[in-house]
Amino acid sequence: MPSVPISSAWPILPFWLVTSGVFVLGLFLGSFVSALSWRMPRGYSILSIDGSKRSVCPHCRTALGVRDLVPLFSYLFSGGKCRHCHKKISRRYPLIELMTAVFCTVLFVFTPLAQASIPGFLIMMMLALTLSAILAIDLEHKIIPNRLNIAVGVLGAAALLLPYITAAASLETLGKTLGTAALTAAVYGILPIVIRYVFFLVTKKDALGFGDIKFFAAAGLWLSLSALPLFLIISGLGGILLGLVWKKATGEDAFPFGPALIIAFTICLCLPEKILSAFL
Ligand SMILES: [Zn+2]
Repeated sequence: MPSVPISSAWPILPFWLVTSGVFVLGLFLGSFVSALSWRMPRGYSILSIDGSKRSVCPHCRTALGVRDLVPLFSYLFSGGKCRHCHKKISRRYPLIELMTAVFCTVLFVFTPLAQASIPGFLIMMMLALTLSAILAIDLEHKIIPNRLNIAVGVLGAAALLLPYITAAASLETLGKTLGTAALTAAVYGILPIVIRYVFFLVTKKDALGFGDIKFFAAAGLWLSLSALPLFLIISGLGGILLGLVWKKATGEDAFPFGPALIIAFTICLCLPEKILSAFL
């Protein structure tokens, strides 16, 4: 990934101001994620923009105005209640908005790609949106939709090719880059299948869902092989922790592994190569 300083992309505004802007952008992307993560697992169309069907309060059906549609703040100022019928609004909305904003901000601050160019920035914001949607859907439905794993993979491929499209990298290295990426994605994709198989032999239980395995492969298009040990350590520990909390909170043994994978992936994506390879 190209490592161009922020100053070259945003020469005028101070970094904290740009970062605050990214956070606010993330809140608005978060309202989209809260709608997407509600619709996608239920099989509804995601991008149906129907003028006659404005957002309404699920209780009193009052059409929501601009004052009700400011992410997070509408919820906070209304005390989590509808302004018209005063019934409670689900906490998932502000939580998903906040989570998406955090993903956007973290990826903006810590990945060189997000700061290097506008296309790089857009790729990272779409990745933040996708990660937030996967986390929300997996927590609520214990599935990772194929389309979201594909989105992670396609964005990874776009990030790899971007330097060649913008001529920041010489085409001579393209073959090597693609070969390395394909090999890395294969290793990331095969390893969880092995883990699943061994875990099943030992415990007779399924450790990883197929959605999780596909996420591994998509993550392999983003991460290097040297990030693999840390990725496994963090997702493994995160999974154990999540499993314990899940059992305590719901009494169920089966828990969604996606959130642990997403956190591990985000951390590995944000750490410089030097630190990642120290875990090898
Ligand atoms: Zn209402």
